[in-house]
Amino acid sequence: MAEAKTLANLIQAEFPFVVPEGTEVECLALPDGRSVPVLVHQSARAFRYRINVAAGGEVRVIVPKRGSRRRALQFAREHAAWIARQVRRMAHRRPKMPRALGPGDPILFRGEWVPALLKIEDGAPTISLADQSMAFAEIGSDLASAASQILIGVAERELPPRARELAALHGCALSDVVVRDLKASWGRCQHARRPSTDGARISLNWRLVQAPPTVSDYVILHELMHIREMNHSDRFWKQVAGVCPAYRDAERWLKQFRHRVLG
Ligand SMILES: [Zn+2]
Repeated sequence: MAEAKTLANLIQAEFPFVVPEGTEVECLALPDGRSVPVLVHQSARAFRYRINVAAGGEVRVIVPKRGSRRRALQFAREHAAWIARQVRRMAHRRPKMPRALGPGDPILFRGEWVPALLKIEDGAPTISLADQSMAFAEIGSDLASAASQILIGVAERELPPRARELAALHGCALSDVVVRDLKASWGRCQHARRPSTDGARISLNWRLVQAPPTVSDYVILHELMHIREMNHSDRFWKQVAGVCPAYRDAERWLKQFRHRVLG
């Protein structure tokens, strides 16, 4: 958990022109048992260590020019209780402007923060996220739309077969699964006219590949359980708990990170 992801070093090896000045991602354990990603950012203009918790819950530790990452993390640990309070307060506030995704910036992929790496291969800009990469004819300074295309591809390859697998496992009549750009929900379930024979169609938000697999499984199971109960009654939640006992943890993740996935 404490393993440091030294993004600047990773990027330096890949693409020496676009190293964001000293940005690193660390994992900080909070007193309430959760852990949050912390962006450690070195600033030539800062004179002391500072912690900033932005709307959306992003935690940033500013390191002065002569400071160290080690001291920055110690500073963050000393203020962990304060950070936990701020994260709780800010997590539900939507960031004012979606921030551009720069080379090396962290992005959620399967629940982990990974750097969006940019490199030039055979003259073409190529973006990679963990084990996935894609070449583009042209890329602007904001890598968000290129990163979305990679994630949409992963979602289309992986989510429908997973939904069919879970439907078969739990005996749910599923007629169709589609991956969509849902703006306000993680998934949807639509009954056919004769649900008992025709089954239902579920739509899944492609951003689910940004969540941990247990969380995206929960969303699929949630939609599948709507085939049995098309409401959020106690009976529905009992069905959900039966197939996904840790569903409350998944719901918590979705609430906490809903502003951290790509827009
Ligand atoms: Zn529902």
